[in-house]
Amino acid sequence: TTRIERHHYDVVVIGAGGAGLRAAIEARLAGKKTAIISKSLFGKAHTVMAEGGAAAAMGNVNSRDNWMVHFGDTMRGGKFLNNFRMAELHAKEAPERIWELETYGALFDRTKDGKISQRNFGGHEYPRLAHVGDRTGLELIRTLQQKIVSLQQEDFAETGSYDSRIRVFAETTITELLLDGNRVAGAFGYYRESGEFILLEAPAVVLATGGVGRSYKVTSNSWEYTGDGHALALRAGATLINMEFLQFHPTGMVWPPSVKGILVTESVRGDGGVLRNSDGKRFMFDYVPDVFRHQYAETEEEADRWYTDPDNNRRPPELLPRDEVARAINSEVKAGRGTKSGGVFLDVSTRMPAETITRRLPSMYHQFKELADVDITKEPMEVGPTCHYVMGGVEVDPDSGAAFGSVEGLFAAGEVSGGMHGSNRLGGNSLSDLLVFGKRAGEHAAAYTDALPKRPKVATSDVEQAVDTALAPLSRENGENPYTLQQDLQAVMGDLVGIIRREGELTDALKRLQELKLRVANVGAVGGRRYNPGWHLALDLRNMLVVSECTAKAALEREESRGGHTREDFPKMSPEWRKLNLVCSLDDNGDVHLDRKPVPTMRDELLRLFKRTELSKYLTDEELAKFDAIAT
Ligand code: FAD
Repeated sequence: TTRIERHHYDVVVIGAGGAGLRAAIEARLAGKKTAIISKSLFGKAHTVMAEGGAAAAMGNVNSRDNWMVHFGDTMRGGKFLNNFRMAELHAKEAPERIWELETYGALFDRTKDGKISQRNFGGHEYPRLAHVGDRTGLELIRTLQQKIVSLQQEDFAETGSYDSRIRVFAETTITELLLDGNRVAGAFGYYRESGEFILLEAPAVVLATGGVGRSYKVTSNSWEYTGDGHALALRAGATLINMEFLQFHPTGMVWPPSVKGILVTESVRGDGGVLRNSDGKRFMFDYVPDVFRHQYAETEEEADRWYTDPDNNRRPPELLPRDEVARAINSEVKAGRGTKSGGVFLDVSTRMPAETITRRLPSMYHQFKELADVDITKEPMEVGPTCHYVMGGVEVDPDSGAAFGSVEGLFAAGEVSGGMHGSNRLGGNSLSDLLVFGKRAGEHAAAYTDALPKRPKVATSDVEQAVDTALAPLSRENGENPYTLQQDLQAVMGDLVGIIRREGELTDALKRLQELKLRVANVGAVGGRRYNPGWHLALDLRNMLVVSECTAKAALEREESRGGHTREDFPKMSPEWRKLNLVCSLDDNGDVHLDRKPVPTMRDELLRLFKRTELSKYLTDEELAKFDAIAT
């Protein structure tokens, strides 16, 4: 029989990014024995890579800012498809979560009078991103880890063991959730280094596994992001929403090929960087859509004045929401006005002194110097769109983070959850999302375990099944190579389910995904269980595949263009489609199903925060009539 290390916890948090760590802290503070699992090294999560900052309406730089303005910007950015309640909680609670981080030891950059400084970002009406240079995520992760260590020290003083109430399992991948009836009973996985199996029995699991970007050819995401949490949720009976909405960040590196996709932070534009095509033209002025027309400058002079006098000028169009900028770059390149490597120019060198560039954008300066031998204080960068973030995710109750569907005891927070960002996320709204909803998920997971009449049990047969599934690729003779399969999948998703989508290509993509599904069922890995990346990828592939199928199916179904979903054959936003979420689930045969479900309707007092002229661009006539009735 196969050896399996067994543990018992109250709450298991899968993922050690910002959402996972914040959830774990809260569960531990509620007195729960908590485990944190992380696929890579502790501290290495996407959160650490976040550069620009965390959005919170503290009003430190412009006192006109408040939660209502932040809420409005978030809904606008998401094109009104957001779960309004999540956007409301996020806008209201983000400032408190940022302050709290300082009590854990974080130190954000300061204004002259000593307040937390805030910077401009696309789609945010006022300077709103609390930041630490361009390394904000690092400070966030560092502080949350420090808080965990301090809690472990308290536990040591009391129990003699650092691990007695909170333990980190690093370089450990969860492959299955185990259920007792419809209740979560535990999580099963393996240590990446030894290949040994581990079973964590627990009545509550918080998914905080981040994104899905590795299914795409060009992406800012690193190797861990194979949609594991999305797939675990589906297989446990939970549902995913909005999977057609992927954010292609407008500015990834395009050269050299080995670093294609690596992110160039939006702070470059927030701090004054401009986009130019190969004719030297600042082309973004030609791409301001009607819904945003009144908020954006029409001339370069006005745009430039905005940096020093934002109250009397409108913002530069380089700071439109990301989906708009990504599509604009795509169009310029397609029209033959791109750079040799297929991007456009992003320039700070002519916009600010070298000293300012190296002080405000130190990571970008080093990134380009080291990876591309480009000195951004002297020459422009070359950039193009890169798959960056998934708006879609586990369908959750907004207040508690509890997953919808048939499963109980499953919670989700951070990028793996869906709803908060609608069809497009604003930059900076992720770091704050992690803190707000990480805390909530940890709190409610703890409360859930308190309310349970008895602890769910893990069935031996389920564990045996999990072991068999995990070992299968190692025992297959002549199995398919996992790296070839990953490349093929990335080509399908990148070429046929990318930034601009068409019915024919999406149908083709679904056909190819079916073929890939059969091939993935026959994936093989050579070698044994000790540190074997080929085996690890073989296991990740089934997750990537099911999640990609949800994305392709939903992208085919949604016949409109909105945020991170652009259909060439349906180029307009449709008020009817705005009322619908596409919900993905798995049936007993493991086949993907798609259902339409109404987007929750906003409460009257929130709806009143918007002007009728703005709402008329998004709502149906019937909805507008209702608005007129409550507005008077
Ligand atoms: P992550 O931080 O992605 O962590 C996921 C965790 O889950 C990791 O620990 C991983 O190892 C673990 N995991 C995954 N699968 C498994 C499994 N099967 N078993 C065990 N563990 C698993 N957002 C902003 O708001 N502002 C920014 O400035 C910003 N800049 C960014 C820059 C880059 C380069 C990138 C890639 C993203 C950026 N984002 C930014 C987005 C933001 O960083 C992410 O959306 C956010 O950090 C996600 O946090 P999370 O806690 O949900 O998950």
